[in-house]
Amino acid sequence: DHRLARIASSIRVIPDFPKPGIMFQDITTLLLDTKAFKDTIDMFVERYRDKNISVVAGVEARGFIFGPPIALAIGAKFVPLRKPKKLPGEVISEEYSLEYGTDKMEMHVGAVEAGERALVIDDLIATGGTLAAAIKLLERVGVEVVECACVIELPELKGRERLGDKPLFVLVSAV
Ligand code: IMP
Repeated sequence: DHRLARIASSIRVIPDFPKPGIMFQDITTLLLDTKAFKDTIDMFVERYRDKNISVVAGVEARGFIFGPPIALAIGAKFVPLRKPKKLPGEVISEEYSLEYGTDKMEMHVGAVEAGERALVIDDLIATGGTLAAAIKLLERVGVEVVECACVIELPELKGRERLGDKPLFVLVSAV
C-alpha cells in the first residue's frame, strides 16, 4: 500500500528511552503529520468496517489515541483497558508479567457483553504480553476478540507467538 512508507517514516526513534539500550518508537511524530495520521486511521477502518465489530478496546495509553477514531468510523463503542486503580467503577483485572515483576490491566464491569465482537488496538507490540492480557480479559467475559491491531511490530521479540492463533494486523515492522 502506497500509504505505508509515509506512515513508517513519520515514526521517530529515540535511542536510550526510557532506559539505556532501548530504541523507543515514538508515534507522537506520526500524529503531527496530518496525512500519515489520517492514512493510519483509514487503513484500520478499511480493514475493520465490514467485520461486525461492536467493540474497539484500546490499551492504555496510546491505544486511546488510535482506538476512538476507528470506533467512531466503524460504528463500534470504545472501551479503555487501563492500568490499575484508574477506572472508578467496578472492574475485572488481569495480571501479566513484565521483564521485571508484574502489571495489571483493568476493564469496567458492564462495558461489554458476552457474545460481542472486539478489536483490540495498541500502538506497538513488543513481547506481546500486553495484548495477550487484553485478549484474556475480554475472553473471560465472553467477548470474541476478532483481531489485534498495532501501528508497529518489533518482530525480533516474537510477540506474535504469544498471541497463539489470534490474528495480529500491523502497519509497520521495525527492526
Ligand atoms: P509488550 O507487552 O512487550 O508487547 O509491550 C507493548 C506495550 O509496551 C505497549 O503498550 C506499548 O505501548 C509499550 N511499548 C513498548 N515498547 C515501546 C516503544 O518502543 N514505543 C512505544 N511503546 C512501547
